[in-house]
Amino acid sequence: MLECRDLAKTYRTERGPVDAVRGVSLTLPAGGFAAVIGRSGSGKSSLLAMIGGLSRPSVGAVLLEGQDIWALSDDALAGFRNRRIGFVLQAAGLLASLRLLDNVALPALLQRHEPAAQVYERAEGLLAAMGLAGYPDAYPGEISAGEQRRAAIARALINRPALLLADEPTADLDEVSEAEIMAALTRVNREAGTTLLLVTHALALAEAADQVIHIANGALAA
Ligand code: ADP
Ligand code: MG
Repeated sequence: MLECRDLAKTYRTERGPVDAVRGVSLTLPAGGFAAVIGRSGSGKSSLLAMIGGLSRPSVGAVLLEGQDIWALSDDALAGFRNRRIGFVLQAAGLLASLRLLDNVALPALLQRHEPAAQVYERAEGLLAAMGLAGYPDAYPGEISAGEQRRAAIARALINRPALLLADEPTADLDEVSEAEIMAALTRVNREAGTTLLLVTHALALAEAADQVIHIANGALAA
């Protein structure tokens, strides 16, 4: 489902090149759940950004459902990303001026592939599945950080992605919110069969994964 071949990322900085990711190869089967674990600065976010089509690898390839994503044109990659990949990042990234329901619906509305009523129905279902049934009309500023993060998961799922990428989605939250979000993510993986790649620096959060990938100094470690 997902295959990374010899991925590397070197950032050019004023202080010289920084090798953030060095020769990472991995495969993840459809419906699988992998956790990438490593210390801060080990290259986790850089790796995830290349897998998610957000940051071009310096070397190597990412194959998603057989598609070499970095061989696509910029437009084709943007479309592929919107249709097939869901992101949950450290900041929820909800639009403050939109209701939760509109935030969740937006990525599907932008595709213009289906009637808005159908999109909104699915958005309501996703909010409910994330424990936010009572909040479709709330604005992001009116709910807690944990609730915002769950709304961001609902938004990431609106286009029924094949792959859900989560980058330390609970790092800044209290333990209860963290447990709720981990439960929500594992449910999406088990029930909807969405392939899940979770980046974390907390070993406890990797426990539910069926594959644990350790990364140190940009390279896979035992
Ligand atoms: P992690 O997510 O594990 O904390 P990152 O992928 O964010 O690790 O960073 C890996 C290394 O790359 C770090 O040394 C970091 O300082 C560096 N780095 C990350 N992003 C950039 C960037 N845009 N420009 C230069 N260096 C970067
Ligand atoms: Mg990071």
